[in-house]
Amino acid sequence: MTRHVDVVVVGGGQAGLAAGYHLRRRGLDFTILDADPAPGGSWRHMWDSLHLFSPADHSSLPGRLMPVQPGETYPDAGHVVDYLTDYEKRYDLPVRHGTRVDAVRRDGDRLRVETDSGTWRARAVISATGTWSRPFVPAMTGGGDFTGRQTHTVNYRRPADFAGQRVLVVGGGNSGAQIAADLALDGHVETTWVTRRHPRFLPDDIDGRVLFDVATARRRALDEGRGDTGGVASLGDVVAVPPVRAARDAGLLRAHPMFRRLTATGVQWADGSRTDADAIIWCTGFRPALAHLAPLGLRGPRGHVETSGTEAVGEPRLHLLGYGDWTGPASATLIGVGRPAREAAHRIARLLDVRRVGAS
Ligand code: FAD
Repeated sequence: MTRHVDVVVVGGGQAGLAAGYHLRRRGLDFTILDADPAPGGSWRHMWDSLHLFSPADHSSLPGRLMPVQPGETYPDAGHVVDYLTDYEKRYDLPVRHGTRVDAVRRDGDRLRVETDSGTWRARAVISATGTWSRPFVPAMTGGGDFTGRQTHTVNYRRPADFAGQRVLVVGGGNSGAQIAADLALDGHVETTWVTRRHPRFLPDDIDGRVLFDVATARRRALDEGRGDTGGVASLGDVVAVPPVRAARDAGLLRAHPMFRRLTATGVQWADGSRTDADAIIWCTGFRPALAHLAPLGLRGPRGHVETSGTEAVGEPRLHLLGYGDWTGPASATLIGVGRPAREAAHRIARLLDVRRVGAS
């Protein structure tokens, strides 16, 4: 059976819910298809000790402030899942959990959305599938030789899973620093942190609030044609959240430059010396999860789709939301996704109106 709606939103994480909020306000008929069996998007899968880098009042989606988590300045991932679960219910958003979109195709004046449980025909599609389902691990010399355990940020849960082991944590961003700190502070894991370039810690008093302000100032400068003031990357790579600060101050968070190759039992460094390891955790980032858009033939360099705001340049019925700065400054954050979600809903409503008038 094929179902018909104005808009299909692919992905029911924070970006998909923010899109739903604005589509509802514009009175559009839509459905949200989400592969996960329950609300929360990627927050359901994060490691146990993870806390946001902004307080609750700086981590809200449109319409509803995130409540403060008792006893915590920076809420944990479970609190975000609760917030998103409540958000979905409060606005009665039509999310179909456990529905994976396999392909989006052109089908005359509609887009056809093929899933593992049926087909939808829509006048427009918002893709909000995030990056969590596409972990990235760089190709390394000797990559196939290592006989220990290799895993990625997406599979890391807690230090107890590595108790008594020698673990290499690879990656100089926030995930790498936080996971290295988590393991090192536990005291039962021999942790070595490896980064491609020397990690740049942000000053201790800078948290997500400042990062959001910087992203907002950048957007304003771009909008006003004043040029690019530089994104948050110009400030540093690692937010000094409390565990990172604690590990750093205790001298437990010293970064080693990247190794040259993997060996059967560990790694070999640039000077030829070797270190044995039981496990390697790759905290080396993500790529946008866009495989379902492949039939549209829109993917450009680095696997991205070229966009103007959130709108796909080669297909005005398609919007991309939440993946990173290329779909709107800070759009991959809780507080930042609201504005591009509003713009996407606005542009879709205008497009559908124009087409309705044209058809009458
Ligand atoms: P996701 O949360 O990944 O949701 C995507 C949804 O789409 C999922 O439910 C998935 O099941 C579904 N999906 C994927 N593919 C398909 C498909 N083919 N068909 C149907 N459904 C599909 N941001 C902050 O604001 N504050 C922070 O403190 C913060 N800390 C972070 C810490 C870490 C370690 C990471 C990785 C990110 C952090 N972020 C933070 C960034 C950001 O908020 C998250 O990446 C956010 O989860 C992105 O939301 P999303 O809705 O775009 O994607």
